[in-house]
Amino acid sequence: MKSKILIIYTGGTIGMKQDPETLLLKPFNFKQITEEVPELKKFGYTIDSYSFNPIIDSSDVDLHFFITLATLIKENYDKYDGFVVLHGTDTMAYSASALSFMLDDLEKPVIFTGSQLPIGMLRTDGKENLISSIELAAAKDDLGHSIVPEVCIYFESQLYRGNRTRKYNAENFRAFRSDNYPVLADVGIHIKYDYAAINYPTKWGKPLRIHTKFDNSIAILKLFPGLNKDYVDSILGIKGLRAVILETYGTGNAPNIDWLINTLHQRISEGLIVINVTQCYAGSVDMKAYANGAILEEAGVISGYDITTESALTKISLLLGEYHRNSDVIKEFKKNLKGEFSK
Ligand code: ASP
Repeated sequence: MKSKILIIYTGGTIGMKQDPETLLLKPFNFKQITEEVPELKKFGYTIDSYSFNPIIDSSDVDLHFFITLATLIKENYDKYDGFVVLHGTDTMAYSASALSFMLDDLEKPVIFTGSQLPIGMLRTDGKENLISSIELAAAKDDLGHSIVPEVCIYFESQLYRGNRTRKYNAENFRAFRSDNYPVLADVGIHIKYDYAAINYPTKWGKPLRIHTKFDNSIAILKLFPGLNKDYVDSILGIKGLRAVILETYGTGNAPNIDWLINTLHQRISEGLIVINVTQCYAGSVDMKAYANGAILEEAGVISGYDITTESALTKISLLLGEYHRNSDVIKEFKKNLKGEFSK
């Protein structure tokens, strides 16, 4: 049977075309995709498309966007073998992380891709990104199971686990990296899958479930030398704040300043959840490695291990939406839900 793929066009650079007269970049009519990328006809797949209205620069992504996208995938889940989400690169790692936690019992690929140059431009990276994403979304094994039943980002020949990925280059075609987890597939002459790195369901055939309740009573507190008390107090003092991502140094260390540690301790004892995420791109939090990490653990800070900030943010706001009691939120956060950290 022919594979059926749904392309969901949300916006971003990929869907732009240069107007030959004004030279300005304009979104193109997505119904004309096969005209713009005639190579798609060679696949022999059924390829449908759905366009967001309005299409957005991914800087405009918000919680409502995540919910619309997850709901759309849920509504179309049984009709398609895989989904390709065309998305701006700026916040793609946030959206892919969010979707990975929102979609439960996923058995089909949801592949985010985009481009650094519009698809209508001669040197575009968009065509290869789109064509390979479709191929990856349609790939099945002999039993008819998807080879990569995960939320992924495909960019510049590499398929990454979405919730492990960060945008790290604003200009280069290789815009994304996944420093703490292997690429799931390398696309060259052959597609080389790293089967051991891909998450597979323990039992196939379960229906997709989605989580759509978010609570954004969260904040990020990034440490830096010269941190001032007013800045820390203004963040930790936000009314109704339930969780903070503390972006620390190295293996999860913080300056050993009395007022900082005391404030953290005080706020945690009042019910604030504080998660330690390293500012480094690679490696993990280990609050037992240095005295400057141990003071955080003693204050009640929770390790985020090697999670990305994008993943930690989306995971915690979904858990806060789902659970009322802090003890439940913390218990779930510590679980490796979708391969988001190595623990
Ligand atoms: N600003 C654009 C966006 O994220 C950049 C891109 O698509 O690469 O929507």
